[in-house]
Amino acid sequence: MNRLMMLEALLGRRAPVLAPGHVWLVGAGPGDPGQLTLDAVAAIAQAETLVHDELVDSRILALAPDGAERVYMGKRGGRPSARQADIIAALLREARLGRRVVRLKGGDPFVFGRGAEEALALAEAGIPCRIVPGLTAGLAGLAAAGIPATQRGVNQAVVLATGHAAAGAEDALDWAAMARLGQPIVLYMAMRRLPEVVAALLRAGLPPGTPAAAVAEATTPRQRSVVSTLAGIVQAVRQAGLAAPAVVAIGGIVDAAAALNRPAHRPMAGAPTLPGDSHQEP
Ligand code: SAH
Repeated sequence: MNRLMMLEALLGRRAPVLAPGHVWLVGAGPGDPGQLTLDAVAAIAQAETLVHDELVDSRILALAPDGAERVYMGKRGGRPSARQADIIAALLREARLGRRVVRLKGGDPFVFGRGAEEALALAEAGIPCRIVPGLTAGLAGLAAAGIPATQRGVNQAVVLATGHAAAGAEDALDWAAMARLGQPIVLYMAMRRLPEVVAALLRAGLPPGTPAAAVAEATTPRQRSVVSTLAGIVQAVRQAGLAAPAVVAIGGIVDAAAALNRPAHRPMAGAPTLPGDSHQEP
């Protein structure tokens, strides 16, 4: 039985057909292949061209049919990342060649993934496009470190924010308002500007002792996390040597990690790989 038939047996329905000249924007989840959805696997199993970025695990890419072409669009080894215009140009080119195109993105394509830009460009060009959601790092990545996004009696909302532009010229976020909201903040792309974000939140009156945590490379075998306070998180991250990709959580939800961030509570991610697995990174 091939992969697609196996999936259809699990789904109890036919997988949607990725037609020639169509592009699907597919969420690959935070890292571990176990966090792909069945629809994502079905999409990848039909790809003739896979356009992917650096956050996608090689075992996930290996789910594509033999002979599928891989177009790598990301940054590696400090080289500048692919320009968004080049990515869109590649998607249009591959679609116009009549290929079945999967654009694989880390996490969820519609959460800080520029999926909307790509979907709009495809729509404008008249190219059919479907969104296949994925588990986003700001929720599944926290869960992998024992941090719930919401907890009864602790929070009634959660803010997903990017720290990418914090305190810079393009920063449109009102950090003081976020501090006043009194609800947990989950930051994506926050490592570079973490000191600025923390300073802004402290200035706005968020108590220095507010629990804070950072989770790097969540769900991969390299996952590492630190738990500290708002006042201590920058130093804790530095001392532990945590680097991107990482999510940062600030708020009472972090307290659960002390009891829950243990191997017995984690998702299956990080379990040993199969012996003889040929798809490991060298
Ligand atoms: N679309 C993605 C986010 C892309 S922006 C999603 O929904 O998850 C890139 C940011 O995502 C990184 O800077 C980091 O903050 C976060 N991220 C992605 N993968 C991660 C992982 N495995 N562990 C921790 N953070 C991750």
